[in-house]
Amino acid sequence: MTKSEAIFERACKVIPGGVNSPVRAFGSIGGTPRMICSADGTHMTDEDGNTYLDFVGSWGPMILGHNHPAVKEAVIKACEDGLSFGAATKREVEMAELICSSIPNVDMVRMVNSGTEAVMSAIRTARGYTGRDKIVKFMGCYHGHSDALLVQAGSGVMTAGIPDSAGVPKGCTQDTLSAVYNDASSVEKLFETFPEEIAAVIVEPVGANMGVVPPAPGFLESLRSLCTKYGAVLIFDEVITGFRLGFTGAQGYFGVDADLVTYGKIIGAGMPVGAYGGKREIMSCVAPVGPVYQAGTLSGNPVAMAAGLAQLTILKDHPEIYQELNEKGDWFYGEVKRLLEKTELPAQATSCGSLGCIFFTNTPVVNYETAKTSDTSLYASYFKHMLENHIYLAPAQFEAMFLSAAHTREELVGVLDVMRGFFLKDN
Ligand SMILES: *Cc1c(COP(=O)(O)O)cnc(C)c1O
Repeated sequence: MTKSEAIFERACKVIPGGVNSPVRAFGSIGGTPRMICSADGTHMTDEDGNTYLDFVGSWGPMILGHNHPAVKEAVIKACEDGLSFGAATKREVEMAELICSSIPNVDMVRMVNSGTEAVMSAIRTARGYTGRDKIVKFMGCYHGHSDALLVQAGSGVMTAGIPDSAGVPKGCTQDTLSAVYNDASSVEKLFETFPEEIAAVIVEPVGANMGVVPPAPGFLESLRSLCTKYGAVLIFDEVITGFRLGFTGAQGYFGVDADLVTYGKIIGAGMPVGAYGGKREIMSCVAPVGPVYQAGTLSGNPVAMAAGLAQLTILKDHPEIYQELNEKGDWFYGEVKRLLEKTELPAQATSCGSLGCIFFTNTPVVNYETAKTSDTSLYASYFKHMLENHIYLAPAQFEAMFLSAAHTREELVGVLDVMRGFFLKDN
């Protein structure tokens, strides 16, 4: 038995499924999770001393690579001043100023502790602002695990085979309407049915929790104009795309304005951080200035802010990081696509900048229905092949591959070789 296996056995006795988030489980691909004890740059090391080239990047936060020296230094420095005060601090203001001065349509921002919390609070704010109850989400988009949003919610839920979570009362989801990703007419129909009841449309501007499903040309623009027409709030859930597609996230990348934006992952550089922000008029509804209550004992935590600020400052001061990262993504996923043209397996690659995914299906993937045509057992074989070659991918089909600024072309050429060994083995 490996050390990872032994620790996992202990874990299963005291933690449901042995993991603190279902996406870490190896349930859908078989085997036991590797217990990671450290990471640096592009590599993670497990308890048995195996190292892996990592493409999960803590599910996105590690856009500069693991254990970035500037982030680490900022965290250590902040720790020396105390871990939490439960009172206002300057770092929170610096964080808010950094975000509001550079992100379009974000005039004010509130820090929270996770993406889930950010989205939950943004929805509440949109409802408070509009005085309406209904929200529209897209099938296959994940917006955290709050009750109202656990409807057709993408990867973690898909892989576990739970269509909707148990324990969510019907009352909590009765105002959640589901639309089809990349199909604006499905949203238009909902608006026609409920013209004055929809508070918000929430979307992952790039679907990244049903595998990677980029928005079709015009899709996000249509959502923008529908929300404007019907007086609903357009929420971009940028928990993955924020500070990844570019510093200004999907709003900047696609040139579409949102009313509220949610952040997580990269914004905390690996610390538990989320944020929601948007137009002043809407954010002014939030307590203590407005009637929408939202609070957090550890929100804006000084250590977390230090980590996030350090990473965001580097990203903001070096726009070339995004240019290089997106070029690297286009090149790498382009090579993957070329490789998959030659395979006899049903497989296609999708990508947007540094986010990419291989779907094991020949059906063109444009939404949740088509993503679900993937052969997950083939993904399991592929995952195992990559892991045996010390390449760590998400242990589930419906997740993204995250490239970081730290990945080198040499490393990626090596990955392509290993992929070739899987996809072209019979040729
Ligand atoms: C990860 C994720 C969330 C939830 O964030 P947590 O920090 O895990 O609560 C919400 N929305 C999207 C798009 C995500 O990818």
